[in-house]
Amino acid sequence: MTHEHSSDVDTDVVIIGAGPAGAAAASQLTGLGHDVRVLERSHFPRFSIGESLLPQCMSYLETAGLLETVQAANYQFKNGAAFTCGTKTTAIDFREKFTPGWGTTYQIERADFDHRLIQAAADRGAKVDFGVTVTDVCPDATRPRVSYVDEDGKTTTLTARFLLDASGYGRVLARKLDLERDPRLEPRMAVFTHVEDHIDDPDYDREKILIGVHPEDASIWYWLIPFANGHASVGVVGAIETLEQYGDSAEARWHALIDAEPRYRQLLRNARPLRPFGELKGYSADVSNLHGPGYALLGNAGEFLDPVFSSGVTIALHSAIMAAPLVNRHLHGESVDWQTEFEAPLRHGIATFRAFVDAWYDGRLQSIVFSESQPDGLKRMISAVLAGYAWDQDNPFVSNANRRLSTLAQLCGYLPRQTQSSPA
Ligand SMILES: Cc1cc2nc3c(=O)[nH]c(=O)nc-3n(C[C@H](O)[C@H](O)[C@H](O)COP(=O)(O)OP(=O)(O)OC[C@H]3O[C@@H](n4cnc5c(N)ncnc54)[C@H](O)[C@@H]3O)c2cc1C
Repeated sequence: MTHEHSSDVDTDVVIIGAGPAGAAAASQLTGLGHDVRVLERSHFPRFSIGESLLPQCMSYLETAGLLETVQAANYQFKNGAAFTCGTKTTAIDFREKFTPGWGTTYQIERADFDHRLIQAAADRGAKVDFGVTVTDVCPDATRPRVSYVDEDGKTTTLTARFLLDASGYGRVLARKLDLERDPRLEPRMAVFTHVEDHIDDPDYDREKILIGVHPEDASIWYWLIPFANGHASVGVVGAIETLEQYGDSAEARWHALIDAEPRYRQLLRNARPLRPFGELKGYSADVSNLHGPGYALLGNAGEFLDPVFSSGVTIALHSAIMAAPLVNRHLHGESVDWQTEFEAPLRHGIATFRAFVDAWYDGRLQSIVFSESQPDGLKRMISAVLAGYAWDQDNPFVSNANRRLSTLAQLCGYLPRQTQSSPA
């Protein structure tokens, strides 16, 4: 049931990249009857970092027609986030949240998850080419073109009626059209691997991501994301120059940093690494515009903040399911105001996450999370944002995130970092 497109185009929509954003857009647009081509540089399944989902993304997967394939995968069930710092531990249960909707989700290996999503989109009719790298784009309000190179070095040009850039860190349009702008976040790095975790501690809850804070340097934090098969993703994030002091290689840094955090050291004492240690630096990115004549940017190809609250896949899926109905209207000849119908509302939720990321690194959110005296109603509002409900304007921690976080942090005894260690 393919939509008839005019003979001067090769397809209705070209999507660059087959990650979660590209797969969700492809699935939804194909479901709406459009002819979709996805161009993906690598071959799936392929490794990707970013394995902790947020409950909010379950409804996005449903909208995109991708929930069933995810539910069939028997992934590790997830209901919240646990936090540890020295002797302090605490947890947030996503089911106890202010905003209605899904309260649980999964921890997934991205090689399998991303493969399933794009396979489901292909099963619905999207045409997906792997091993092709988009090298050039020629934006146009009605006939955008992209050129790609295949693995034999052959270049092909495709003409479409709309172009979606879901190229993630490839950032194809941002680079080609000079859209990149300062992400306004300190450049940080992540050191990570997957392990056979061999965790035998009965108090350890596999149904939550465990976020650790370095006992001597609260700007360094850890993730432990267990999977259903006894494997786990384990990583550490901090300022580039700080983490580089922990060793000469990714492997040396990872081991030294895990040893520095008592709970991680104890939990992972029998862990066996399963893949080469990876490092990513300066991954935060932003663009001046998320749309232009005949194109829109999805997921990480647009803005990426920081891994700390696992918002990446949720934002990627959100951008895709917002864009797909607008592309549909555009293809039916209706005018679409991409600024007010796409960019502004999408950026609203991203701004909420940004306020939380800023509050994490300046210490306000850590004070709140580890506080015993957090009022229950407010805890549910924080829990909703951390569960991914960052677009719910009824939540005061969305509509006025920064001010609310500052006020609550003060109630929880927060002292700004620079004065924390000063003599009274
Ligand atoms: C250290 C770290 C930890 C993270 N942890 C989490 C987490 O726990 N949870 C979470 O939700 N998010 C996490 N993220 C973020 C998450 O990985 C991304 O937000 C998410 O993958 C974005 O999806 P996407 O579809 O936009 O892009 P991607 O998943 O990056 O997909 C883009 C695709 O485009 C392809 N591509 C690139 N260039 C080209 C080209 N020129 N031609 C053709 N194809 C191309 C790539 O091969 C890739 O397959 C983390 C990020 C980092 C850096």
